[in-house]
Amino acid sequence: MLSSRNRRRLFRAGFATLSGLRADRWLAPASRGTGLILTFHHVRPPELGDYAPNALLSITPAFLDRTLQLLKKIGFELISLDDLPARLADEDAASPFAVLTFDDGYRDNVEHAAPILARHGAPWTLFVTAAFADGRGRLWWIELERAIGRLERVRLPHAGIDLPARDAEEKNAAFDIVYRHLRAGPEEVLLQSIAGLCREAGIAVGDLARELCLTWNELRDLSRDARVSFGAHTLSHPMLAKHDSAFATREIAASAERLSAELGRPVRHLSYPVGDPTSAGLREFAIARQLGFATAVTTRPGHVFSEHVDHLHALPRVSVNGLYQDEAALRSLLSGVPFLAWNRGRRLNVA
Ligand SMILES: [Zn+2]
Repeated sequence: MLSSRNRRRLFRAGFATLSGLRADRWLAPASRGTGLILTFHHVRPPELGDYAPNALLSITPAFLDRTLQLLKKIGFELISLDDLPARLADEDAASPFAVLTFDDGYRDNVEHAAPILARHGAPWTLFVTAAFADGRGRLWWIELERAIGRLERVRLPHAGIDLPARDAEEKNAAFDIVYRHLRAGPEEVLLQSIAGLCREAGIAVGDLARELCLTWNELRDLSRDARVSFGAHTLSHPMLAKHDSAFATREIAASAERLSAELGRPVRHLSYPVGDPTSAGLREFAIARQLGFATAVTTRPGHVFSEHVDHLHALPRVSVNGLYQDEAALRSLLSGVPFLAWNRGRRLNVA
């Protein structure tokens, strides 16, 4: 199996090749959808150091600016998620569209992204996890990063994992292995294991939301900006498909009610936490549809095609990845070419 570093190198080489061949241009008419929904997480100044295993979730303000410039230059029209269903049904639309979405409700979105988005006149959607806005909940992927950052050895006895973590290289390798192991198992085990590593590292569990996420008051301030819309991202950010149906339904329904009550706005959109097929599948798509959401977005990679009008609760997105903050990567993603391979030729990837 390729290490994540080698995989990264391979992707970067692929992006550069595509861009060098101009394949992103000559293939675009075949591979590009009607439009796309971009996913962002953190927008903030670059992280320093060689150990930053969540760096893929973070882009710089300058790169957000370049992304918006390139979208406009290529001819994408920036539309709001509210307008997406009608746009998909509109066969006369001349240009492709782009929707900008931000997951989790990070404070850096307001500090660093909002001014740039406003300057471009761009509408955007923020998907809020209720527990994070309450200043609690588990941003477990960041807890794991910080715990391994402090530990010299990473032990998960129940899994037979016992790894050195003395320098950046060992820490990155340990993070990869532990993350992959825990993501594949039950959520309770993941949360307990990471809580254990945090305690061992002397890190408080469940404290990160207060540091990193917008409070309800800050969200209410943001809601005065008419270009911002809000979507539900559940109560506690679980991988829904790993839980029973009643739990999943409550996580989705109650978070939308809470958001709507706190912000005094209707909540029409949902983003499935984590959002890959192990976290959101047919059952979750049906729940979102039955609860009356206008759209629900996954993290399955891909462009949006006109056929998605029949799959509005299983929409793919294109993640603007912090590991590839350059124009070649961006042009490839906007062309849709990489998704033909990643989705094995399937345009929709909704099953
Ligand atoms: Zn999330």
